[in-house]
Amino acid sequence: MRISFSSSEQSSGTKVVVGAASSMRSEDAPAAGEQFFKYLKAKDLGQEVVLDMGALAPNVAAAFASGLLKASYTFNKYKTTPQKKSPQEITVTTSAPQEAEAAFAPLLSTMESAFWASDLVNEPANVLNPETYAERVKAELEPLGVKVRVIEADEMKKLGMNAALAVGQGSVTPPRMVVLEYDGTENNGVGSAQKQPLALVGKGITFDSGGISIKPSSGMENMTMDMGGSAAVAGAMRALAARGAKTHVVAVLALAENMPGSHATRPGDIVKSLSGKTVFIGNTDAEGRLVLADALAYVQKEYDPHTVVDLATLTGSAAAALGKEFAAAFTNDKCLMAKFNKAAAVSGEKVWQMPLEESKAAAAAVRNTPHADLTNNAGAPGALTAAAFLREFIEKNGDGSDKRKFMHLDIAGPGMPAGELKGWGVFLLDALVARFYEQKDAANQNAPKHACKCKSKNEPEF
Ligand SMILES: [Zn+2]
Repeated sequence: MRISFSSSEQSSGTKVVVGAASSMRSEDAPAAGEQFFKYLKAKDLGQEVVLDMGALAPNVAAAFASGLLKASYTFNKYKTTPQKKSPQEITVTTSAPQEAEAAFAPLLSTMESAFWASDLVNEPANVLNPETYAERVKAELEPLGVKVRVIEADEMKKLGMNAALAVGQGSVTPPRMVVLEYDGTENNGVGSAQKQPLALVGKGITFDSGGISIKPSSGMENMTMDMGGSAAVAGAMRALAARGAKTHVVAVLALAENMPGSHATRPGDIVKSLSGKTVFIGNTDAEGRLVLADALAYVQKEYDPHTVVDLATLTGSAAAALGKEFAAAFTNDKCLMAKFNKAAAVSGEKVWQMPLEESKAAAAAVRNTPHADLTNNAGAPGALTAAAFLREFIEKNGDGSDKRKFMHLDIAGPGMPAGELKGWGVFLLDALVARFYEQKDAANQNAPKHACKCKSKNEPEF
């Protein structure tokens, strides 16, 4: 769907007069746009629609238009019959169309990345497997200036990524780690590639049958979406590169297909992870934390990031606690939580803090196993023990404290929505980087003057 802005009423198409628009606030406008698109679609007013919204301020018009666009997303590439008509072109009237166009351009760019991520999540698992997924990411991101390195299974073996390999060994398509690096800090001659990056890690289980600990058949078809965290991370990298963000970000997509089979990991197996820690695999359906463990270890060892953020459709308990509206946020740093709360408010993708360091019971439970260092099956509360397990793979200082700022987002609720747009997290991560991890200059008007009062000294001086 195309969106344009106009001050006149010369545009062709079905004209719709929208009342009470002048009182709309820009922060409410995207949601209003989404709702309004559903109305337009239901009314079936033809291919071209003009929204006469009076003298809507340009930034509000742009925000409203982004909501229209977001709601227009569909995934119908496998439909062989024509779908119900919806508007193909919408013109939004505003007092200053050129300013609205300018305000809309970055929103459109991020939206395109969210749509791309959503396509990945919507693809069925017979199309998107660890191999084809890695190929798609490479084909999309390399032309945008992102370095893409695919670590194949034989190299993963040499490196010692046995936790991730264990997850995929029942599948005919072996696991992959896709390593992405985008450094926009050299573009304007400020900073350097040596600066410590922000690291993003995403769970990419292209299909989760549960493995030998197989899931019930009801709802298993939704397990094609168990790669939503990695899609959000890849989508965010695309968004950053597409707009030339002045930042240094690395990412690891941990891709595997979790299937039963004669080669599959058995409940009770013990593996040595890349970090050196051994893991008792008590339940092969708790596979997300296994691929993430090796991805977390790798990204820290290889890139020395100041902050590590992971996104994963990890536990049913996170979805049970918070539903589809909030991601469960686990962090070892108050300031990082504050940054995410701010980014969530801006992006509309909401987070809610859960206990990480505070939960001594969860920390003890993941170590409570007789023959290995850790167990992947520490039981309830599932979201907390999963988070505690991941924290074990954050590198430590000499005094035992965490060496990195760490944020784990369990997106099992919002990452598997019933609606069309998926890839939850692209807007959140993009907003986070724009506000807190980019070099500031005249071209970056969105950046606040004071990024965060509690900024610690090992973060880049942007
Ligand atoms: Zn699982």
